[in-house]
Amino acid sequence: MLRPVICGVTWFRLVGSTLAALGILGWGMVWAGDPPGEWKVGTARVAITPEGPVWMAGYAARNRPAQGKQHELWVKGLAIESPHGKRVLLVTLDLCGVSRDLTEPLREEIAQTTGVGFDEVILACSHTHSGPVVGTNLITMYPLGEADRKAVEDYTRDLTRRIIQVSRQAVEALEPCQISWGIGEASFAVNRRENPERDVPTLRAQGQLKGPVDHAVPTLRVDRGSGGLAAVVMGYACHCTTLDGYEWSGDYAGFAQLELERRHPGTIALFFAGCGGDQNPLPRRSRALAEDYGRQLADAVDRTLQGPLTRLGPEDRLATAATTVRLDFAKVPDRAHWEELASSTNRFEAARARALLDRLDREGRLETSYPYPIAAWRLGGLTWVFLGGEVVVDYALRLKKERGSDSVWVAAYCQDVMAYIPSRRVLLEGGYEGVGAMVYYGLPSPWAETVEETIFQGIEQVWNRLDR
Ligand SMILES: [Zn+2]
Repeated sequence: MLRPVICGVTWFRLVGSTLAALGILGWGMVWAGDPPGEWKVGTARVAITPEGPVWMAGYAARNRPAQGKQHELWVKGLAIESPHGKRVLLVTLDLCGVSRDLTEPLREEIAQTTGVGFDEVILACSHTHSGPVVGTNLITMYPLGEADRKAVEDYTRDLTRRIIQVSRQAVEALEPCQISWGIGEASFAVNRRENPERDVPTLRAQGQLKGPVDHAVPTLRVDRGSGGLAAVVMGYACHCTTLDGYEWSGDYAGFAQLELERRHPGTIALFFAGCGGDQNPLPRRSRALAEDYGRQLADAVDRTLQGPLTRLGPEDRLATAATTVRLDFAKVPDRAHWEELASSTNRFEAARARALLDRLDREGRLETSYPYPIAAWRLGGLTWVFLGGEVVVDYALRLKKERGSDSVWVAAYCQDVMAYIPSRRVLLEGGYEGVGAMVYYGLPSPWAETVEETIFQGIEQVWNRLDR
């Protein structure tokens, strides 16, 4: 019984390919009639831990470059090919953030190198605060000297080369696999706007922690066709800010990846950050805690791996869509404002003002809005949304409420990390995520009050295209 089916598939593909090669049929027509094949997955990784002295990203209080490491930082690639031949690529980065001036050309180059579409390449940062400064990301935060800047530039150049290498290798490694998915839970993320850090142990013990959280642990399981766990992808909505020292580390997400790879030899573990813009791992500030949160995350993943899981079948489709929406700034002050602030005694205000004056000199104007990236993949019954920036938890909760919490995953810090992305509620409340952090990202003002609705309109557009 088996042989005729295999022969049939081979024959059909051969004829279809030949007709397509002759230009008689388009690929769509060939595939439309072709019995579906198999899902394929390819993975690759390379260490990106800086070798020389490079400044670390994420905290304004550090005053010197890193010294030593707790473990390697990684770029990891996961390519997926559907039974209909459509490909996507997820690249996870143990980095705090990357900017659009780096990632747009980088995604172009990955697309050219791999053949995966520009919109289908997702760059996802873990937001570890124990990774290096990259390119111009958060650059007004750090008092870098000339040699420090050069070290960041050299590192960034080498990093892009490694990201392209991993992307190419992941696609080259595509092999038949089984893909399944489920959602677990871990509870160490705390709403940092609502709970004073020192009170968290007591509040947790009393069940009195306040504010919205998203404790879901979306988990993708990849098994080789020949048997054995090939890869696991996990997400969690929480800042990687357990640690604030001078040693390189992926923070809890780095420890979770290590733990899963230790428990499942031969497996590659990848992490993506969810909408944890206003979430911290609390309490924090020790390696023991970072390891413990890593273990908690790995435990959540392992429980989910045991099932039940939803498995993608040969009839399931992979659909993708992406868009860019313009997020307006509340206001863009004129040159006189920035000239005055350039001599501010607040070094962050002064650095932002100088950066914006430079741009005014170069480009003659300041943008009044930002091109915000939104993408989504539909894998059978799962919709995986990818948002740029430090998105607060309200977005994931609203999206899951409107679209279904058991079939929607939301990744943030994707494509580029341009700023915090507050909900309307958080924006109006103010504070660091709503207003204060914009200075570190070198942006002229808080977002306009339309920020949340503009992003949800973009998600709606993307969703409608997935539904087609
Ligand atoms: Zn952050």
